[in-house]
Order: sequence, then structure tokens, then C-alpha cells
Amino acid sequence: MREVPLADDVDLERVAARTVGFSGADLENLVNEAALQAARGSKERVDMDDFSHARDKIVLGAEREALASEDEKQLVATHESGHALAASLLPHADPLDKVTIIPHGLALGATEQMPEEDLHNLRQSYLVDRIGVLLAGRVAERLVFGEVSSGAESDLKQATRLARRMVSQWGMSETLGPAAFPRGEEHIFLGREMAQQRDFSERTAQLIDDEVRALVRDCEQRVMQLIERHRPQLDALTQSLLEHETLGADEVAALVGPSGKGGTQ
Ligand code: ZN
Repeated sequence: MREVPLADDVDLERVAARTVGFSGADLENLVNEAALQAARGSKERVDMDDFSHARDKIVLGAEREALASEDEKQLVATHESGHALAASLLPHADPLDKVTIIPHGLALGATEQMPEEDLHNLRQSYLVDRIGVLLAGRVAERLVFGEVSSGAESDLKQATRLARRMVSQWGMSETLGPAAFPRGEEHIFLGREMAQQRDFSERTAQLIDDEVRALVRDCEQRVMQLIERHRPQLDALTQSLLEHETLGADEVAALVGPSGKGGTQ
């Protein structure tokens, strides 16, 4: 960053908080992209908006054209509002950063949270709320439209994977107790599970599956009730997203109101 002129509004701690997990090369790329973005806007200094734009481009993929069909917009806005509402209301969820219905890469919309710190040790309460936030998009669709869409595929994948780890690796199921049942580590580079010998019975495998399903279903029930109780806020968020396409943390907090975790930052 020493090589680029920075505007006064650049808050490096905030940049750092939004780039958790970035490698040195990613960070270099971030600064280059931000400088390019500033140049495109004929600015003399790189400001926070440029960093935000660069970060989204790297994490979410490049911005694409806005959604054309009103129906699809409505669906995506509802889905993202569900995520945003759950992130605002669930007490242990990471604080919301922003929510958008501008498509990036393959995603039609995105709800971004900002972990308060680099987490290495994850508490059960945090994990359960995290699954809740992941399921909330689909839950909102079901509440508003009476049915779900295929848009929640990656949410479901992430939620299920997390639940499976909680049950089979982190001893967070009462039924299975404090035991670990590893079934193939995820390969870091291939992003899929490597075949590995399983040293537990078919019966245990069945139990794990049942527990994973029960855990995800419990989280879904909880978040369903939460969103039902806050339906006016869900609708207000959806409406505002349709109007503005992107909402920051403060705007979401104002719409969710005092029942949220507090609209600081
Ligand atoms: Zn989603």
C-alpha cells in the first residue's frame, strides 16, 4: 500500500477485517484492483469504496449486469433479506457487513458478514447460528412464496457440511457423544473428500446421517419462527433492496429496528 496514495477515509483495520483468509498475493491483487478502480473514476487517491469494490471482485467475482426480470429480482431480494435478517437477529452470528442483489460471478445476490476476529475455535452457539443464517434465505422464500427455488444449493451444501462436522468430528451431538468419526479429510486443493477407510459401523454411519438431518432441521425450525415473528422487517428489507440494490450494515440495522443485535458500525 505504500506505493499508492490513500484517501483519508481508508480504514486499514476494516480492510483487514473484510479480507480474513487472504494470502499475500490476494492482498497485492486487492491493492492493484483498488488502484485500477480509482483510476477508472479519475480519482487522485484510492478510497474505501475502491477497496470495497476490489474486495467484492476478488471474493464474489466481477459484477454482472443487474437482474432483468422483476420476478427474479423479487425472489433474490427476498432470499438475501432472509439471510440479512437472520444475521441481524441471531445473537451469535457474525455481524452483517452488507447485502446486495447485484449479481457477482455465479451468485445472483450476496449477504456478507464480517467476522469480528479470525476464528480458530468455534463455539457450538456460533455454529448453530451460522447454519441458521445459511438456511434463512431459503426459509424466507418459503414464507413469502410458499415454495423454495434452486438458488439455495450452495447454502444447503455449506449448512450440511458444517452440521456433519459438528456431529461427526466435534462431538456436538448428544446421541453420538464425545467421539470423532472421521470419514475422509477434505482435500485442500481438490475441494472434495478423499476416499479413506472408515473405521466405524454402518449403524454409526446411519446415526450420523440422522443426527445431521435433525440438527439442520432444528436450525431451520428456529430460523423459520424467528423470521415469521419479524415478517414486517423482512418485507421492509426486501422492498429497500429492490429500490437500492445494496444495503450497508447501518441501513439494515435501521430497517430491522431495536430487536436486532444493535446497529453499531
Ligand atoms: Zn443464499
